[in-house]
Amino acid sequence: MQQGGVHIHTPAAGAWAVCLCGNTGAMWEDPQAGKLVIATRGDKSNVLALGLNNQLLVRAIQASGRGQAWQDYRDWHDIATDAPGYVFDKSRAACWAVIYKVGTTSDTRWANEEELAVFLKALS
Ligand SMILES: [Zn+2]
Repeated sequence: MQQGGVHIHTPAAGAWAVCLCGNTGAMWEDPQAGKLVIATRGDKSNVLALGLNNQLLVRAIQASGRGQAWQDYRDWHDIATDAPGYVFDKSRAACWAVIYKVGTTSDTRWANEEELAVFLKALS
């Protein structure tokens, strides 16, 4: 396993967004619903998804200019973890940032054979 080799990338809509090393790609299957497809030419066990709840980020942006008290942060965190049906919810991870295995949530899945072929062709 590579040490310190974390590659983070933002998925594209309708096209593969490929990570720095070119081994893994992500694509929105349904951007509105937040559904992702992930492909890799490497070992699937080395690929994890990182989900960040926009609700916390939005609160931070809205507070811009008036400083940030830790109580504000805890309030935003409380809002971001009140997310029934999502991995961020208090009944699940209870955190605005969640690391999970692809396919263990309802909104991520591995590419099927056809999609993987398109991904691999795009790399060549
Ligand atoms: Zn990579």
